[in-house]
Amino acid sequence: MSIELQIEATRGGARLGNLITPHAVVETPVFMPVGTLASVKGVPQDLLEELGVQILLGNTYHLYLRPGVETVRRMGGLHGFMAWDRAILTDSGGFQVFSLNELRKVTEEGVTFRSHLDGSAHFFSPESSMEAQIGLGADIIMAFDECTEFPADRERMRMSMRMTLRWAERSKRYFEAHKDEVPWGSGQLPLTRGGQPQVPRRLAARNDNSEISGNPGEKENVSLAGPRGEQGSPGQTVASALTQNQALFGIVQGGMDLQLRKESAERTVAMGFPGYAIGGLSVGEPRDLTREVVEATLEHLPADKPRYLMGVGTPEEIALYAGLGVDMMDCVLPTRAARHGLLFTSEGKVSIKQAQYMQDEGPLDPNCGCRVCRRYSRAYLRHLYASNELLGQVLNTIHNVTYYLDTMRAVRHAIQLGERARFLSEQSGPKP
Ligand SMILES: [Zn+2]
Repeated sequence: MSIELQIEATRGGARLGNLITPHAVVETPVFMPVGTLASVKGVPQDLLEELGVQILLGNTYHLYLRPGVETVRRMGGLHGFMAWDRAILTDSGGFQVFSLNELRKVTEEGVTFRSHLDGSAHFFSPESSMEAQIGLGADIIMAFDECTEFPADRERMRMSMRMTLRWAERSKRYFEAHKDEVPWGSGQLPLTRGGQPQVPRRLAARNDNSEISGNPGEKENVSLAGPRGEQGSPGQTVASALTQNQALFGIVQGGMDLQLRKESAERTVAMGFPGYAIGGLSVGEPRDLTREVVEATLEHLPADKPRYLMGVGTPEEIALYAGLGVDMMDCVLPTRAARHGLLFTSEGKVSIKQAQYMQDEGPLDPNCGCRVCRRYSRAYLRHLYASNELLGQVLNTIHNVTYYLDTMRAVRHAIQLGERARFLSEQSGPKP
């Protein structure tokens, strides 16, 4: 099995769940920080673990160009290469190539593009995107799609959406034929630098005694016998709960046309993927329109499969979309904004460069428990920014990522409380 979403509670359209992947159990709804080049810029992996990041995103286009898929594959895929044993998702490269504008040419076969690094010519197709993503070895990979530009006329949106459907079929066909080539597949768990099989770390599940805790010996365990036939020690037993194959998600396109979105969703779902993404948003359309398209698309996605909204959004938006029933989101906003001194706090946005913070002894966010807010003053953060000190970017990023993760923790808590409140009211029955 590739992935499983266990839904624990619902509130309205929102769902609280555990997404079980080969490397980690991810609590959903989840925000996934973006680590474009196998790095969440400025934040080391052990710190990401401390912040509670359970899954992060890597970009296929960037990693394909540098360091190259083969380099990553030989080191056990992204998990081994970047020393991250929790979950990873890679995009298909389609959106990044789309962003190149002048540097690309799209045909039915695929996309020819020029590298932003050195101008060299490259070609991505559904097949080569799958090959790259299997080599990178993320837990979740994405079908190769075309992101329709905004604005676009209806005929253009229709043609583009239907090509994405054909590309989804090609992606799936290639993936099914080659999924065993994943660098940690078929008993070949990723190697650490010491050359020992690297055991996926299962994250603490919400319930101590839930099914996903696994019961060693009861069900089949992931084999720890490496390529050399080594057996793992009992302490290395991998919970049987973790799934064993990469999961390929389909992507719904259709521009801003609700009818086309419906067609795209229904036909993508008919192909049968373990999860579905809503793509082609955050491309310059007004926010109200984004919401309208998301709501209209969610209606046509199966309730028992994970739903991933790509490239969205602000803290308010991720809370909103989780409330509507989106399980996974990613966005460069918290990390990119942090490097530009724009910080999200419980009291609103703070532009730390402003002179008003020069003498401000208070914490960045009095309601944030992150290591930055516990230790440093706004005056110091402002000084680091003004002096262009690297530490400023690091600290700002740590805070913003914490703020996004806390936002989703609050959403999950609210869904849980909503469920409990309903349960209690049912138990107490009508008052006399
Ligand atoms: Zn903070």
